[in-house]
Amino acid sequence: MTHIIVGAGQAGGWAAIAMRQAGYEGRILLVGDEAWRPYERPPLSKAVLTDEPEPPVAYFHPAERFVELGIELLLGTSVAQLDPAAHGIRLSDGQRLEYDRVLIAAGGRARHLPIPGGEKAHYLRTIEDARLIRTKLATARRVVCIGAGVIGLEIASSASKRGAEVTVLEALPRAMGRSVSPEGAQFIESLHRDAGVMLHFGVIVDAIESAADATLRVSCRGGIEFSGDMVLAGVGMQRNLAMAEHAGLALEGGIVVDEFGRTSAPDVYAAGDITAFHHPLFNRRLRLESWRHAQNHGIAVGKAMCGEASPYDDIPWFWTDQHGVNLQVAGLPADAVRTIVRANAPPSVFTAIHLAEDGSVIGLTAANDPRVVRAGQALIKARCPVDPDALADPDVPLQHLIRR
Ligand SMILES: Cc1cc2nc3c(=O)[nH]c(=O)nc-3n(C[C@H](O)[C@H](O)[C@H](O)COP(=O)(O)OP(=O)(O)OC[C@H]3O[C@@H](n4cnc5c(N)ncnc54)[C@H](O)[C@@H]3O)c2cc1C
Repeated sequence: MTHIIVGAGQAGGWAAIAMRQAGYEGRILLVGDEAWRPYERPPLSKAVLTDEPEPPVAYFHPAERFVELGIELLLGTSVAQLDPAAHGIRLSDGQRLEYDRVLIAAGGRARHLPIPGGEKAHYLRTIEDARLIRTKLATARRVVCIGAGVIGLEIASSASKRGAEVTVLEALPRAMGRSVSPEGAQFIESLHRDAGVMLHFGVIVDAIESAADATLRVSCRGGIEFSGDMVLAGVGMQRNLAMAEHAGLALEGGIVVDEFGRTSAPDVYAAGDITAFHHPLFNRRLRLESWRHAQNHGIAVGKAMCGEASPYDDIPWFWTDQHGVNLQVAGLPADAVRTIVRANAPPSVFTAIHLAEDGSVIGLTAANDPRVVRAGQALIKARCPVDPDALADPDVPLQHLIRR
């Protein structure tokens, strides 16, 4: 038996280990186009940009673990083609390999701005990107960040910590528009403003040009201009779908998989950021780009490929660190019809609970309040209506509401 894993990132690495944990004894080949074995990306927009000395690469597993478990790593090599009918793949060096089962865990890359001068901006996905940005930040005095999503704002926070004057430009009317409620956005925006970051919303960037004084000029619709020594863009992730598309797999903005990670082709599975997976609790397909999902989905699908299948129904969850504040978001706040903000005493603490149409909790946003996150996830899982007055009362612990 041979299992091939395409993509040696977080989901692929954990899937390989989970296969052994499920008792699979056949060959496992983990193929990755980066030079590194699976490593953590979250530090790339945080400690790698700010800390002295530069932190080492944060690997998920020591190299010996792969050796002990008999997992073969083929790094610096990309898979060029997948042929589900022939149960085969072709590597970038032309080599053809056959599999019994294949897992696609190829994640995504940073989306580039499709505008004139878009190549003058820095983008962040890999350790190499982070190291280059780190070097540039050492001398940049004025930085323009395009995009107020999670990555854009983390970069803005790190650049500000490095002493730069930071301007953020965002096309939408608020920060983190895809992942938090308007109340959560307001909290995040005030964090940035308090730290001196200038935020501009409803701004459409048209072009980036080099100016005579070696600065960069960012031209926006309506004739507005901004300039800086460096331009950084965090404008989303683009899933690496070309191979799956060519192989004829069903796609819906990601590779469509069921709750066991099975794609539309026999013996072809997918996990992590690259998927559009069916979530049994929300009864719809989700596309997530987050650390815990990459890990737990990788583990669940790796096991399912070896006969240990249980439906993957993790509650979506991610965290972000900005200006020293840890914000955690669970569930689907963007789907809420009502948000209840708990009246917390210290202004650095923020807790919002998001309700679905039927009065059940569908999401939670919590800053500097990690205790509520676990209970919030249990409430989301319970999917039953909860008394809104009790939710609003900070003296009522959320876990008591689960029992009720
Ligand atoms: C800068 C940054 C900061 C982040 N911070 C947070 C955070 O604070 N909190 C949080 O919850 N999440 C965070 N994330 C998200 C989290 O890191 C990702 O969700 C996770 O890395 C996804 O893992 P993955 O294995 O699905 O995909 P990836 O990490 O993208 O791994 C896929 C791998 O496959 C490789 N590959 C692609 N195509 C091929 C091919 N054809 N052949 C071979 N190899 C291929 C890719 O190069 C890559 O190495 C952050 C992400 C980034 C980029």
